[in-house]
Amino acid sequence: MGFPGPLKRHGIVVCVRKRPLNRKELAERELDVISMPRADMLVAHAPRRHVNLVRFLENHNFRFDYTFDEACSNATVYNYTARPLIRHIFDGGMATCFAYGQTGSGKTHTMGGEFTGKQQNVMDGIYAMAATDVFSTLAEPANAGLGLRVTCSFFEIYGSRIYDLLTPGRAQLRVLEDSHQQVQVVGLTERPARCTTDVLSLLEQGNCARTSGHTSANCKSSRSHAIFQIVLRSANTYRLHGKLSLIDLAGNERGADNSSADRRTRLEGAEINKSLLVLKECIRALGRQSGHIPFRGCKLTQVLRDSFIGKKVKTCMIATISPGLRCVEHTLNTLRYADRVKEL
Ligand code: ADP
Ligand code: MG
Repeated sequence: MGFPGPLKRHGIVVCVRKRPLNRKELAERELDVISMPRADMLVAHAPRRHVNLVRFLENHNFRFDYTFDEACSNATVYNYTARPLIRHIFDGGMATCFAYGQTGSGKTHTMGGEFTGKQQNVMDGIYAMAATDVFSTLAEPANAGLGLRVTCSFFEIYGSRIYDLLTPGRAQLRVLEDSHQQVQVVGLTERPARCTTDVLSLLEQGNCARTSGHTSANCKSSRSHAIFQIVLRSANTYRLHGKLSLIDLAGNERGADNSSADRRTRLEGAEINKSLLVLKECIRALGRQSGHIPFRGCKLTQVLRDSFIGKKVKTCMIATISPGLRCVEHTLNTLRYADRVKEL
């Protein structure tokens, strides 16, 4: 099945990726309630409210730029989402690609690469595929004259705190806005990278810092936003040329979670919820190309300010969803969010 071209919207692409049922779900005969009848269409079959029998399913139809079913590889997803952004940063633009969805729906699989056993196949992730394309584009004769060098940053936002993942001990960082409204993450590490291998070792270092910084293993990374940036700078002046931010967002499932006994967990949930709402408003404002972009509303959008403000900005959202009936309420929340992002 061929994919259509993206809907005309100012620099914003919104797509949905469905993961396959996992082994446990298959063993439990979990029902797959998501179908993708076309490469830009999705139907969620959800139990109708106030009816106890699960057999009464109601269809919810959605349209996105692209819908990727369980048979789509990371490479296919990459080709339609982050890949077009590489050209854009060489043209001097700012670009962001977000993975948004419930914990367990495939954000890290998409961005970081597939896990086989305990090993993650990083070459198969959007991070590594983007890095590979950045270096091959840099090597094109037409770009030699640009005199660019590549650097990388990797940090996470946990609650409203920012941690550098490329310093030993996950240094906490501050954000400052100067009188020209330029936002700076003070002291953020930017490491030079000469090839994909350099990028992979930075990713590995960052991923180690990310998981080891969290006390409980099961909360792992699902409560923080991870931001990996590939930056193009002038080799001589160090002036910023273009930037690609690849973002593995915190799980969105805590939206309505007021039931948690633990106050800290509740506060964290509220903070995540707020940041995802502000993010949605910023992308929508960007798409409308008019008026105020509320980037000051949370740390995440504040640090991404230069990716929201300005003429040369492009954004892509990959909403990841689980196929199972048991997750369908969360899935519908994710789909409605993505729908709002694209609706201007
Ligand atoms: P998240 O980061 O959203 O919490 P993960 O990326 O960790 O979710 O995915 C949860 C599990 O599902 C992992 O074991 C992952 O390997 C698997 N998975 C996710 N997406 C896919 C996919 N498209 N194909 C196969 N397995 C997937
Ligand atoms: Mg994850």
